[in-house]
Amino acid sequence: MRVVRSARMATTLLLCASALPAQQATFASDTSTSQTPTEPKAPRSFDLSAIDKTADPCVDFYEYACGNWRKANPIPSDQSRWGRFNELSERNRYLLYVDLKRAADSPKSALQRKYGDFFAACMNTDQANELGNKPIQPVLQRIDALTDKKQLAATIAWLEAENGTPTLFRFRVEQDQKDSTKRIEGVGQGGLTLPDRDYYLEDNPHMQQIRTQYHDYIVKVLTLTGESDEQAQKDAGEIIGIETALAKPALPRVALRDPDKRYHIMTLTELQQLEPDFDWNAYLTGIHAPKVETLNVGQPDFFKAQNQVLSEQSLDALKAYLRFHVINGAAPWLSQPYENASFEFFPKTLQGQAEQTPRWKRCAQITDRALGEAVGQDWVKENFPPQNKESMEQLVAALKKALAQDIQSLPWMTDETKKQAEEKLDEFRQKIGYPEKWRDYSAVHVTRTNFIADMESADRYDLNYELNKVGKPVDEKEWGMTPPTVNAYYNPPQNDINFPAGILQPPFYDFSKDPAVNFGGIGVVIGHEMTHGFDDEGSKYDGHGNVKNWWTQEDREKFDQRTDCEVKEYGSFEPVPGVNLNGKLTLGENTADNGGIHISWQALQDTLKQHGKSIDDKIDGYTEAQRFFIAYGQVWCQNIRDQASRVAAKVDPHSPGMFRVNGVVRNFDEFGKAFGCHEGQPMMPTDACRVW
Ligand SMILES: [Zn+2]
Repeated sequence: MRVVRSARMATTLLLCASALPAQQATFASDTSTSQTPTEPKAPRSFDLSAIDKTADPCVDFYEYACGNWRKANPIPSDQSRWGRFNELSERNRYLLYVDLKRAADSPKSALQRKYGDFFAACMNTDQANELGNKPIQPVLQRIDALTDKKQLAATIAWLEAENGTPTLFRFRVEQDQKDSTKRIEGVGQGGLTLPDRDYYLEDNPHMQQIRTQYHDYIVKVLTLTGESDEQAQKDAGEIIGIETALAKPALPRVALRDPDKRYHIMTLTELQQLEPDFDWNAYLTGIHAPKVETLNVGQPDFFKAQNQVLSEQSLDALKAYLRFHVINGAAPWLSQPYENASFEFFPKTLQGQAEQTPRWKRCAQITDRALGEAVGQDWVKENFPPQNKESMEQLVAALKKALAQDIQSLPWMTDETKKQAEEKLDEFRQKIGYPEKWRDYSAVHVTRTNFIADMESADRYDLNYELNKVGKPVDEKEWGMTPPTVNAYYNPPQNDINFPAGILQPPFYDFSKDPAVNFGGIGVVIGHEMTHGFDDEGSKYDGHGNVKNWWTQEDREKFDQRTDCEVKEYGSFEPVPGVNLNGKLTLGENTADNGGIHISWQALQDTLKQHGKSIDDKIDGYTEAQRFFIAYGQVWCQNIRDQASRVAAKVDPHSPGMFRVNGVVRNFDEFGKAFGCHEGQPMMPTDACRVW
C-alpha cells in the first residue's frame, strides 16, 4: 500500500516523505488511549517566554532562543520528535480533522461525500478488526498462484497497479533532466523496507540489533497470515537476504544527490539486455504505461545486480518477499494484531515513539495524502485568508531582489558566472498557498465498507494520473504538496519555489508582528528555497530546469571549496553521542539555510530603510537585528528522541534544529554584532563558512 507516490524530486524545507521509512510516512498504527481530538493552541511567533536568559547567546544561541520552550515542551508520547513545525502541523491536522468529520457526518457536496467516506472508512476499527486480513487475501492468492519466475514481471506490475505496492524497484514518471519540457518514464533502485541501505550492510551492534528486530517483525506478520513459525522463520531469512542483495548495488544517498547518477536514457531493448530475467515489456504493459522508445534507467548497475537476484533466488523465496511487501504495506490499516506489530517495529523500535498515534490523526493524515486537493479546497477557504497570498507575493519579490544583490556582492565569483546566476534567478517562479486548478478525483472510488480497497483505488488513480503525463507538456501549475502541509520546496527541473498555505502562519508568518520577526521566519524560509536553486545539486540545473553547466571552471572550483567548508563543519556536529551528521548528505540543506539567512537579512535591511527605521530600534527590549535572529532560532526549537535522531542522521538531508540554528548563526558575522559577541566565542568563530 503506497497511498500516493511522491513523484516529484524536490528539495524541501523539512523532512520529505520519501526520506522516511514507508510506515513512518503513512503514520503507522494505533490502539490509542487518547482518542478524543482536542483543539491544539495556535503556535506563537517570537515567543519571549521561550527564551532562556540564563544561556549566553554567544556560546549557544539555540539554547538561548529555545531553552525554555524545550523545557516546557517534552515530546508527547505519540511523537518521536516535537518542534515548532509539529505544533503547527498538529494544529493544521486538527482543523483538517474537523472538516473530515463534518464531511463524514453530513456531506454537503459529492466531493465532501468522497473524502468524508474515505475518512469514515479509515476510522472504522470495528470493521477493520472484523475483516482481519481478508482485504489482502486476493492479492496474496495472486502471489501464491505463481508457478514460474517468468510470470514475475506481470505479477509485480499487477501489485503496483492494482494494490499500490511497489516491490523490487521504483517506477515513476519524471521530467527529463536534459529536456525539462518532456515527461518520461523512469525506473530506479528500490525494493527495500528498512530506511536506508546501510541498515542492511553496516556491521555494528546497533544495526545488527535492528536487523534482528526486523527479522522478528517479519516472522510476526507472516504468522498472523497463517504461516507456521518454522516457515515464517525461513521466509524472514530469505526476505532479508533478498533485500540485502538489493541494498548492495544500491547507490548511497549522497551519490544520488548528483543528477548524473540518476540519469541514463536507454531503449527498452537495452534495459532488457541489462536484466534478461525480467520481462520489462510485461511489466510496462501490466502497469498500463504508454508505449515509449526510451526511458530513464536511473542506476543501470542496480538492475544488472537485480537480474542476479532473480536468477539466484528460488521462486518460493521471491514469493515470500512479495507477500511480505503486500502485508507490510497494509499492516497499519488491517486488524489490531497487524497494527500493533507494525507500530512496535516502525515508530516504536526504529523511531523511539512511546505510544501509538491516535487513529483520528492517522486517518486525517492519510486522507490528506490520498485526496489532498479535495479536502484542501475546503481547508483553504476556512484557514487561508486571501490577503496572505498577496503579502507573500510582496515578500518573495523583496527576497528575489535581495538575492540578486547578494549574487552581485559575492567576492569569490567572476562576473561571467554572476551573469548566469542572475539569469537563473530571473527564471524563478513561485506558487503560493494552493493550486489555481484542483485535481479531479472522480476516478477514485470510495466506499465505507473496505478501507484497503479505498486506498487501492487512490493509488491506482495516482499511478494513472502520473502515466497520463507521459509525452505531454509539463504542467507548471501542478503542486507537489497539499495545502495544509507545513513545509515548502524548490523543484530543480521546474526552477520554482512553492509555499503551501499550511506554513504561512505563526511561528513563520505573522503580520501582527514587526518585519524583523517575519523576515527571520518566513523570509528565511523563502531565502532557503531560493538558495536551493544554487546549492550542490540545484546549481547543476539552469533556469529552464535542465542539467547544464553554466559555471566557469574556476568559479566551480571555488564553489566546491566553499561548500567543503560546510561539509566539514556540519560533519563535526554530533546529534547523539557517537553519531555524527553526514556533511555531504546535509550539504544542500545547510547551504540553503546559510544562504537563506543572508538573503533575508538583506531584504530586511531594505525594508527597514524604506520605512525610515533602523536595525537598532528596540521592541520588547530587543533590537530589530536581535529579533530577526531570535525569530529564526525559534522556528527550529525542537526535542527529538535519540532513536529518531539516529534514523535522521542516516536518511534526512536536513540537519536537526540545534545545528540549523547554531551552524547558521556562527557563519554569519551580523549575528555576532547583533549580540555583542567576541571573535573566538563559539557563535563567532574565526573559521566561518560562506557560500552564498
Ligand atoms: Zn530545503
